[in-house]
Amino acid sequence: MSAWFASDLHLDPSAPGIAARFVRFLAGPARDAEALYLLGDLFEAWLGDDDPEPAHREVMAAIAAVAAAGTLVYVMRGNRDFLIGERFCADTGALLLEDPAIVTVAGTRAILTHGDGLCVDDGAYQRLRALVRDARVRAGFARLPLPQRRRLATEARAGSREHLATASQYITDVNPAAVEALFRAAGVTTMIHGHTHRPAVHESVVDGRPASRFVLGDWHATAQVLRWDDGGLRHLPCPA
Ligand code: MN
Repeated sequence: MSAWFASDLHLDPSAPGIAARFVRFLAGPARDAEALYLLGDLFEAWLGDDDPEPAHREVMAAIAAVAAAGTLVYVMRGNRDFLIGERFCADTGALLLEDPAIVTVAGTRAILTHGDGLCVDDGAYQRLRALVRDARVRAGFARLPLPQRRRLATEARAGSREHLATASQYITDVNPAAVEALFRAAGVTTMIHGHTHRPAVHESVVDGRPASRFVLGDWHATAQVLRWDDGGLRHLPCPA
């Protein structure tokens, strides 16, 4: 049993090299595993499943091909692509994962999350997160014409950049108590998430048991993935 994990590719038509690398990964190494988990922010912005953006359609075709070849592809929404929906899944053959989700890989249970829900010290961000997770807000956004959605997404990204530039490091990272609470609620000792763009393995002890939190990196810095097989779970440079 083996699986790949990736998150925070932030695919954007303005950075075609990253999409090209991901497509190479899908066409090659991704196929030697039973499962591929994409843990959010696959896209820098996702305006809705009806967006005809050709660069995104190319990536979706590559996902559909690896899914058709037999690798189970799981997609979790991130804060940038929270509008990924049923039609995206139908078009790609990917399976939508709720956040958080508990999965079993190589005989071990693990909790998967995008990770933004753990950044509870960032009050301004959490208020925005609650808003965009509201079903009525999502439905209202989806009804807007595409150019208007594009404009709003651009404004939101500018606001996010400004916020990250001024907020302190600890505020935009995960909160240790929130991490511990999630480990406890899930009853597992392995967690995988992205979002913070701070790839690392964090060891701790929860209720007397050693617990490991694997943080994925973003692909604009270094394209890293996590590989989980019978030899365990480890970070690797994207092998494509
Ligand atoms: Mn994110």
